[in-house]
Amino acid sequence: MQTLFWLLDKDSPEPDIINAAAKIIINGGLVAFPTETVYGLGANALDGRAVKKIFAAKGRPGDNPLILHVSDLDMVYRFAGEVSDKALILMKKFWPGPLALVLPGSSKIPKEVSAGLSTLAFRMPDHPVALALIRQVGVPIAAPSANLSGKPSPTTAGHTYSDLKGKIEAVLDGGPSGMGVESTVLDLTREIPVILRPGGVTLEQLRALVGRVDLDSSITNPEEAIEQPRSPGMKYRHYAPEAPVILIEGAEEKVTAEIKRLLEDYGKEGKIVGVLCREGNQDKYPGSVCISAGSYQDFSSVAAALYNALRQFDQTGVEVILAEGVEPTGLGLAVANRLRRAAKKIVYLA
Ligand code: AMP
Ligand code: MG
Repeated sequence: MQTLFWLLDKDSPEPDIINAAAKIIINGGLVAFPTETVYGLGANALDGRAVKKIFAAKGRPGDNPLILHVSDLDMVYRFAGEVSDKALILMKKFWPGPLALVLPGSSKIPKEVSAGLSTLAFRMPDHPVALALIRQVGVPIAAPSANLSGKPSPTTAGHTYSDLKGKIEAVLDGGPSGMGVESTVLDLTREIPVILRPGGVTLEQLRALVGRVDLDSSITNPEEAIEQPRSPGMKYRHYAPEAPVILIEGAEEKVTAEIKRLLEDYGKEGKIVGVLCREGNQDKYPGSVCISAGSYQDFSSVAAALYNALRQFDQTGVEVILAEGVEPTGLGLAVANRLRRAAKKIVYLA
């Protein structure tokens, strides 16, 4: 299959391109599109056969559900089993934006979308291209991130194209994703709301609005094996570059010292080592391929840079990557979570 690549004006997407892309989706094809978090791979959410193609193109395990992307609240009322007062408050405050809400499902949506779960996740993306596309399709677009399963999520159309060319009908290029990490997935089907995946809307922001919000144990204990995950995606390793990542967490001085020590050890073995470090620390690791993950004073810069940095290592021939851990507060929780999920090994320095 030939994959079409269309460049759009982010702020006023060309209607003829949006029409052509919407037609592909309505006819059962797949289109990758930009959102403010990462690029998504979209299909008509009402077409189970089209949705199945997403899993095939990505190599995604069939038990990992997709998010329904909507362009207005009416779509949520039409396709969710129930919309609670709390859900409405959250939608009004954070939509369009990086928050996916897990609500009771309904039989109007084919089971492929929810991977057989009785719930459905909804989100309204904050991107003019995504919103125009969903509006033109007229029903929710089911979409996960537009990368090959297991790889870092795509934050540019180029990442998506290199992963999925030949496997999907089209890629819409609306520029780099500003946020850079995926949405927060918040489960509202339990008594107390639970974050299943930390993301662009922080735990602190959610608590300020609705009171008690818990973190799923997979976030607080990343190494814990999950028997029956609420969000099946949580059990798979994700976001990984080709070389194994060793994540070192703890106070900055200890982390720096440990990375230097490891660099010496690997140096003796003649290994090519990559280091993912905070802005300003590049000079501390001579002899390594050092890539900056942004300023650790400003986690939004790290979120925006992270996946591109992880993908860059694949171009360098490094055999192992040592990563400086990020403090898991605010948006740092989402970044720390992605690094932990990308890591083969995590070293905690007390
Ligand atoms: P992605 O953004 O590529 O990671 O894919 C969508 C994410 O949403 C995955 O982490 C899913 O596990 C999560 N998700 C989608 N639907 C549900 C649902 N009904 N319940 C729990 N998590 C969900
Ligand atoms: Mg994904």
